[in-house]
Amino acid sequence: MSRCAYCEETAGLWSRMCGDCKKLMARVEELRGKVGYGEFLDGLEATGVAKEKIMIFLKADPDGHGSVQDRVTAEMTTELMKVMGIQGRQTPEEVRRIRSLVDKDSK
Ligand SMILES: [Zn+2]
Repeated sequence: MSRCAYCEETAGLWSRMCGDCKKLMARVEELRGKVGYGEFLDGLEATGVAKEKIMIFLKADPDGHGSVQDRVTAEMTTELMKVMGIQGRQTPEEVRRIRSLVDKDSK
Protein backbone atom coordinates (compact mmCIF):
# COMPACT_ATOMS: atom_id res chain seq x y z
CA MET A 1 0.00 0.00 0.00
CA SER A 2 1.25 3.49 -0.73
CA ARG A 3 0.34 6.78 0.84
CA CYS A 4 -1.56 9.64 -0.72
CA ALA A 5 0.82 12.37 -1.91
CA TYR A 6 -1.62 15.00 -0.69
CA CYS A 7 -3.14 13.96 2.63
CA GLU A 8 -0.80 11.05 3.47
CA GLU A 9 -3.63 8.67 4.11
CA THR A 10 -3.43 5.17 2.70
CA ALA A 11 -3.97 5.47 -1.03
CA GLY A 12 -4.01 1.84 -2.12
CA LEU A 13 -1.74 -0.08 -4.40
CA TRP A 14 -0.17 1.78 -7.35
CA SER A 15 -2.01 4.95 -6.46
CA ARG A 16 -0.44 8.29 -5.69
CA MET A 17 -3.67 9.73 -4.40
CA CYS A 18 -6.50 8.47 -2.22
CA GLY A 19 -10.09 8.46 -3.45
CA ASP A 20 -10.98 11.72 -1.69
CA CYS A 21 -8.03 13.64 -3.12
CA LYS A 22 -8.72 12.27 -6.61
CA LYS A 23 -12.26 13.54 -6.26
CA LEU A 24 -11.00 16.94 -5.08
CA MET A 25 -8.45 17.17 -7.89
CA ALA A 26 -11.11 16.42 -10.49
CA ARG A 27 -13.26 19.19 -9.02
CA VAL A 28 -10.30 21.58 -9.00
CA GLU A 29 -9.78 20.95 -12.72
CA GLU A 30 -13.47 21.55 -13.30
CA LEU A 31 -13.64 24.82 -11.36
CA ARG A 32 -10.27 26.47 -11.98
CA GLY A 33 -10.45 29.59 -14.10
CA LYS A 34 -14.25 29.65 -13.94
CA VAL A 35 -15.16 30.75 -10.43
CA GLY A 36 -13.93 32.98 -7.62
CA TYR A 37 -12.22 31.60 -4.58
CA GLY A 38 -15.37 31.40 -2.40
CA GLU A 39 -17.26 29.43 -5.04
CA PHE A 40 -14.19 27.32 -5.57
CA LEU A 41 -14.16 26.28 -1.90
CA ASP A 42 -17.93 25.68 -1.96
CA GLY A 43 -17.45 23.47 -5.01
CA LEU A 44 -14.83 21.42 -3.19
CA GLU A 45 -17.06 21.06 -0.13
CA ALA A 46 -19.86 19.85 -2.40
CA THR A 47 -17.79 16.72 -3.07
CA GLY A 48 -18.67 15.63 0.47
CA VAL A 49 -15.02 15.43 1.56
CA ALA A 50 -14.43 16.69 5.12
CA LYS A 51 -13.41 20.32 5.29
CA GLU A 52 -10.22 19.58 7.28
CA LYS A 53 -9.17 17.20 4.54
CA ILE A 54 -9.90 19.77 1.83
CA MET A 55 -7.59 22.19 3.66
CA ILE A 56 -4.83 19.56 3.91
CA PHE A 57 -5.29 18.82 0.21
CA LEU A 58 -5.13 22.49 -0.78
CA LYS A 59 -1.97 23.13 1.19
CA ALA A 60 -0.09 20.00 0.14
CA ASP A 61 2.76 20.49 -2.28
CA PRO A 62 3.91 16.97 -3.24
CA ASP A 63 5.80 18.10 -6.37
CA GLY A 64 7.37 21.26 -4.97
CA HIS A 65 5.66 23.36 -7.66
CA GLY A 66 3.44 25.18 -5.21
CA SER A 67 0.39 23.93 -3.37
CA VAL A 68 -2.97 23.57 -5.12
CA GLN A 69 -4.13 26.61 -3.19
CA ASP A 70 -1.19 28.76 -4.31
CA ARG A 71 -1.50 27.64 -7.93
CA VAL A 72 -5.23 28.36 -8.07
CA THR A 73 -4.76 31.71 -6.30
CA ALA A 74 -2.02 32.61 -8.78
CA GLU A 75 -4.31 31.78 -11.71
CA MET A 76 -7.15 33.81 -10.25
CA THR A 77 -4.86 36.78 -9.63
CA THR A 78 -3.49 36.58 -13.18
CA GLU A 79 -7.07 36.49 -14.52
CA LEU A 80 -8.00 39.50 -12.39
CA MET A 81 -4.95 41.45 -13.53
CA LYS A 82 -5.89 40.72 -17.14
CA VAL A 83 -9.42 41.96 -16.52
CA MET A 84 -8.01 45.14 -15.00
CA GLY A 85 -5.69 45.57 -17.96
CA ILE A 86 -2.51 44.92 -16.02
CA GLN A 87 0.17 43.00 -17.85
CA GLY A 88 1.88 40.25 -15.97
CA ARG A 89 1.45 36.92 -14.35
CA GLN A 90 1.24 35.80 -10.78
CA THR A 91 3.25 32.72 -10.00
CA PRO A 92 2.61 30.26 -7.17
CA GLU A 93 5.99 31.29 -5.73
CA GLU A 94 4.90 34.91 -5.61
CA VAL A 95 1.62 34.03 -3.91
CA ARG A 96 3.53 31.98 -1.35
CA ARG A 97 5.93 34.85 -0.75
CA ILE A 98 3.11 37.35 -0.25
CA ARG A 99 1.28 34.97 2.07
CA SER A 100 4.36 34.37 4.19
CA LEU A 101 4.72 38.16 4.57
CA VAL A 102 1.07 38.48 5.58
CA ASP A 103 1.39 35.58 8.03
CA LYS A 104 4.38 37.22 9.66
CA ASP A 105 2.49 40.49 10.10
CA SER A 106 -0.52 38.87 11.69
CA LYS A 107 1.49 37.11 14.37
ZN1 LIG B 1 -5.48 11.96 -0.08
